[in-house]
Amino acid sequence: MVLREWVELVKDGLKYSYAPYSGVKVSALAITPDGKVYRGVNVENASLGLTVCAERVAIFNAVSNGERKIKTIVLTSNLDKPIYPCGACLQVMSEFGVEEVIIVHGDKVIRHNLSELFPNPFSDWRRRD
Ligand SMILES: [Zn+2]
Repeated sequence: MVLREWVELVKDGLKYSYAPYSGVKVSALAITPDGKVYRGVNVENASLGLTVCAERVAIFNAVSNGERKIKTIVLTSNLDKPIYPCGACLQVMSEFGVEEVIIVHGDKVIRHNLSELFPNPFSDWRRRD
């Protein structure tokens, strides 16, 4: 799958966003090194603190299907400016080795290395794998 297809797929995912409170629809793809694509959307809740971002839903979807390495995150929203991942999502991306974050806004595609957006992730020296 190529970038153009990722862009179409992530935009298509906006229709599945569950955002009855903010109206901010977000869609994300988590793409593995071998090219498998897992989708996610933001899921809001009446108890607003329970809301989960699209990027984490996409990553958790991938992990729930047996993946342990995510190479790329693709992200878009219905906002009138490019949307960037929050700090919690950047930390989760770091956990699964994300290398690149691609932000889609209309016809614009903005590419960042995760290390640019999040140069000093928290890591736990006790990790065993
Ligand atoms: Zn987030």
